[in-house]
Amino acid sequence: MSQEKKITMAHGSGGRATNDLIREIFAQEFSNPVLNAMEDAAVVPGNGKIAVTTDSFVVEPLEFPGGDIGRLSVCGTVNDLLMRGAVPKYITCGFILQEGLDMELLRRIVHSLAVTACEAGVEIVAGDTKVIEGKGGLLINTSGVGFVQEKLCVSAANCQIGDAILVSGYMGDHHAAILSQRMGICNTIQSDCAPLGEMVRALLEAGIDVHCLRDITRGGLGTVLKELAEASQVTMAIEEALIPVNAQVRDFCGLMGLDPLYMGNEGKLVAFVAQEDAGRACEILASCAYGAHAAVIGRVTDEEPGSAYVNTGIGGKRVLDVLFGEGLPRIC
Ligand code: MG
Repeated sequence: MSQEKKITMAHGSGGRATNDLIREIFAQEFSNPVLNAMEDAAVVPGNGKIAVTTDSFVVEPLEFPGGDIGRLSVCGTVNDLLMRGAVPKYITCGFILQEGLDMELLRRIVHSLAVTACEAGVEIVAGDTKVIEGKGGLLINTSGVGFVQEKLCVSAANCQIGDAILVSGYMGDHHAAILSQRMGICNTIQSDCAPLGEMVRALLEAGIDVHCLRDITRGGLGTVLKELAEASQVTMAIEEALIPVNAQVRDFCGLMGLDPLYMGNEGKLVAFVAQEDAGRACEILASCAYGAHAAVIGRVTDEEPGSAYVNTGIGGKRVLDVLFGEGLPRIC
């Protein structure tokens, strides 16, 4: 197999080519005692409340500035676990390879996935590969398992009136990086794709009264705030001037007629914490590796349950709804 440069249908046969593929690409990068046992199912230790999530990744292009589909699939999965206050522990990966996929590209993506899993502190305990007809693409499905402290209640339905609303950094970077690459626009915008474990751990360990966490992905901050307002039956009031946006992304948005409030990230969160903890929570976020430019951007009120709005610089008020229409396809 070593001489072959592309994935062929034979790699999905379940026979020798499949075994070679698993041994030469996946087993080396993902090696751990659970996976190496090659059992039909992983049996792993755990206790307490279990958080479970699953996600599929179809991003195009497979590699982009600041990340790739491998890194993205780990980050997306662990971040969803973290948003419930869980400590991510195990992930599974299903790879759907299209015929014609470049073997070196696959190798890089698998390596990146393994490195990111290590960074995020999760063990890859089960996996699968399939080969389908196509044009050299790659899709990944990941599931994640984590454990939640018994008394912790971090939930979309738990935003409370008076809470401070914080974001962990610049809005829209991932969306802008993907779109720039697809359009062949030359800039230095990077995806923010990152695991957010350090941040969540730091907030909880410092005893911050965290009510709700949400990673700001597809649909952007505007969509997330509207969804959380409905889930918690409160009002989200944010200040436009306080929303952190990278200057280059802001320029890009101006040029393209895009709104950073509706552009996705892959390494940012919005946190709802008790008002008295706001300053300290912001300092904690800003001290983390992926939390530079963290900011308090508003607060939860009781004006109109289920609504969200942004105060614009000129005294105006813009109502935020969920993203309407298609958005950017295959962003994650
Ligand atoms: Mg999420």
